[in-house]
Amino acid sequence: MSAKQEFVDNAKSGKVLAHKCTKCGELHLATVYFCKKCGNKGFENAVLEGKGSVATYTIITVPPAGFEKYTPYAWVVLKLDDSDLRISGFMAGIATPADLPVGTKAKITGFDDRGIIIEKQ
Ligand SMILES: [Zn+2]
Repeated sequence: MSAKQEFVDNAKSGKVLAHKCTKCGELHLATVYFCKKCGNKGFENAVLEGKGSVATYTIITVPPAGFEKYTPYAWVVLKLDDSDLRISGFMAGIATPADLPVGTKAKITGFDDRGIIIEKQ
């Protein structure tokens, strides 16, 4: 199974697959070859709960091709509760900033052609 597929499968069950440095414990979202904190080359998988709060977001009213049917939506950056990791994904039905105050609790609920799907908790 590819690393990408493994990440997608975890997202579908509301989890985030991260790579944890075996030396200092720093978490990395992407596949990296060196720990960005200590330079170590060893990693182990860490599966995190895909729950957190909205750190920032962009409301999309003029969507890229193929996304017209989804508007309005927001591209959300979710800060996970259990770590400093930030993960970005799709949240449906967001038309104005009043719909989504920063700090709103949200969670990962799936993964499809839109990418990671995030919904309010
Ligand atoms: Zn490290």
